[in-house]
Amino acid sequence: MNREMIARIVAEVMGQLGEKVSAEALFDTIPVAVSARHVHLSPEHVEVLFGTEYELTKKSDLSQPGQFAANETVVIAGPKGSLERVRVLGPSRQLTQAEVSWTDAMKLGVKPPLRESGNIQDSAPVTLIGPSGSLSLSEGLIIAQAHIHMSPTDADQFQVKNGEYVKVKIHGERPILLDKVLIRVSDRYNLEMHIDTDEANAGFVKTGGTGELIRETKSVPHTPSSVVVTSQKIAPVHQVHEFKQKLLSREHIQSIEELEIVIGKGTIVTPLAKDTAKELGKTITFIK
Ligand SMILES: [Zn+2]
Repeated sequence: MNREMIARIVAEVMGQLGEKVSAEALFDTIPVAVSARHVHLSPEHVEVLFGTEYELTKKSDLSQPGQFAANETVVIAGPKGSLERVRVLGPSRQLTQAEVSWTDAMKLGVKPPLRESGNIQDSAPVTLIGPSGSLSLSEGLIIAQAHIHMSPTDADQFQVKNGEYVKVKIHGERPILLDKVLIRVSDRYNLEMHIDTDEANAGFVKTGGTGELIRETKSVPHTPSSVVVTSQKIAPVHQVHEFKQKLLSREHIQSIEELEIVIGKGTIVTPLAKDTAKELGKTITFIK
């Protein structure tokens, strides 16, 4: 079963439970993880910082297959300050790279560019200090561009391509809209959006939150009531709108989505509202 169908079924079930959500919103949901400052090290640099023939040791697995947080940490030093105990991520990579937030960069006194992870050419210089030695690199410090990891199957279903930018809305107490979020597609990736701590703090976002991919043109048809699951048909939900204002006008009839509008005995219905309801196939029911 694909994501689209799952989204439509979940929307349907939630509708029956009285929670109105659109299938599109569910379909476009992406898990969010917050990346704290971290470094990736080349095997040579692991040896410089931690000792000859040293290899990183795993502390915990990360969500992307094969990636892990190492037990090892380093200090990132800058002209104005330093960041202690910065986590090393493994396994070691070809190029050493440190990813910090803009807030971190201000503390260090440097201005790293916003980059896709792995693209460090002409990025900011960085000094790393480990228990066995230190490194001064002419480039390697970046602020990571918000991005979404996904498999080719996910990309098909979201109708996006590797390298494309999208907008993502993160709902919550202080909702934020992130623009220019990079799509990264690989069959090694699990679906997950990565943002840095500045972006997360702006929206009170924690790892485990979700974002909604905002698409220019909605591609999912919104007819959840006709979804067929194997041979079992889900009955359409009978939705009722309870109208509580004193005057029910034509504009109300037009804006209310439900086909049945329930009003109290004190509510006045304009003649035009009655006609419009008839035209649109909506019923107005009085409750005594
Ligand atoms: Zn990532």
